[in-house]
Amino acid sequence: MSDTRPDVLVIGGGVIGLSCALALARGGRAVTVLERATVGSGASHGNCGTITPSHALPLAQPGVVAQGLKWLLKPDAPLRIAPTLDPARLAWLARFALNCTQAQVERVAPAKAALLNHSRDLLERFVQAEGIDCEFGHEGELQVFRTRRALDAASVELDVLRAHGVPVEAWDGARVEREEPALKPGVAGGLYWPSDAHIRPDRYVAALAERVRAAGVRVCEQTEVTAFERDGTRLVAVRAGNERFVAPQVLLAAGAWSPLVARDLGLRVPIQPGKGYSITYSRPIRAPRRPLVLAEPRVCVTTWASGFRLGSTMEFAGYDDTLNRVRLDALVRGATEFLHEPVGAEHVEDWWGWRPMTTDDLPILGASERVRGLWFATGHGMLGMSMSNATAELVAAQMLDQDTPLDPDPYRPNRFAL
Ligand SMILES: Cc1cc2nc3c(=O)[nH]c(=O)nc-3n(C[C@H](O)[C@H](O)[C@H](O)COP(=O)(O)OP(=O)(O)OC[C@H]3O[C@@H](n4cnc5c(N)ncnc54)[C@H](O)[C@@H]3O)c2cc1C
Repeated sequence: MSDTRPDVLVIGGGVIGLSCALALARGGRAVTVLERATVGSGASHGNCGTITPSHALPLAQPGVVAQGLKWLLKPDAPLRIAPTLDPARLAWLARFALNCTQAQVERVAPAKAALLNHSRDLLERFVQAEGIDCEFGHEGELQVFRTRRALDAASVELDVLRAHGVPVEAWDGARVEREEPALKPGVAGGLYWPSDAHIRPDRYVAALAERVRAAGVRVCEQTEVTAFERDGTRLVAVRAGNERFVAPQVLLAAGAWSPLVARDLGLRVPIQPGKGYSITYSRPIRAPRRPLVLAEPRVCVTTWASGFRLGSTMEFAGYDDTLNRVRLDALVRGATEFLHEPVGAEHVEDWWGWRPMTTDDLPILGASERVRGLWFATGHGMLGMSMSNATAELVAAQMLDQDTPLDPDPYRPNRFAL
């Protein structure tokens, strides 16, 4: 049994854990990352790679519960909730439903917008300064609607987003078809989000891991945290298999696994895995010029020089790790309604990932009020790539006892009594 003593232990080597590890190491801390599998193998691998201030409104909104109930009977609907008696999942769903109010939208939207806008700027600067080859693109994102009804419904909240510093342009159908010849005719209109961007997530995370190691961080892969040691309310050590790791600060960044890891500390982290899928192909000849969100089927289409990905869908089925063919097929069907060439010639990868979903759609960032020495950077839901840089800056500043770049209050763990 070895006994290792860094300043900070980071649990989880996804985009969030790695980004925080880098910020802490560059802030002068000795950091060790503990990763149960390999770095970047969780949700950070096959996601859509879009960087989206446009997604600043919370998922929990008035009307979402009614829409969700309509979708319950359709196995290929954009949202699926598997029947369950699991108390944690039922409690999560109830809490989410209670959050579907206008008051919550007004509380959450400014906090999401602040994190997303700042993170998008930091990401571009980071990619440029470090010369990271992750196919960063800043052509914005286009949300495409085939029905007037869906376009009108989505247009209601645009002023709220503009007020929070997220620019958006409404394009008519003719303009959308002119700008994106990859689309089939019959488009009702589009919303163009100029400040959105995109990256190839697997390449970005691989480059991030390289920088983390170069900054002197010890990265322990195949090292699953299984238990903790406490002295009263203070966290003393972390156990991973036969190894015992000791550090004054421990940062939980285990994405959707965070509640499972924290259970040993007696903490109930209100995160459920929101399973999403993607299919990656070689790039079609008539590929879209910028990332698209196909509004009605809710399919995200990302094009890179190196490939093409259809992704999204949200499934609450607990920690189910099977690949659901119905949901993968729904991605292709949705893309076929909109695109001349919905798939590329070469099929590269079918993938699923667990998004770490919180009940209020804000991440959990900062010090635990219940366990001294424990910190959180988790719960980034659908937006972990988009929020990673600002998350790292904010969390590292707090752990290093420095001034924070953003108001940390809306993200604090104490809103969930953690
Ligand atoms: C289909 C899909 C599309 C998406 N598209 C986008 C997008 O376009 N833009 C965007 O911003 N976000 C997107 N997301 C969301 C984004 O992928 C996540 O928010 C983000 O990857 C979360 O990062 P993370 O580091 O918190 O979690 P993860 O990447 O899942 O990392 C957590 C890590 O913790 C490790 N771990 C777990 N348990 C333990 C343990 N006991 N001990 C040690 N290590 C442990 C895991 O192995 C894993 O590597 C998408 C997600 C999905 C599923």
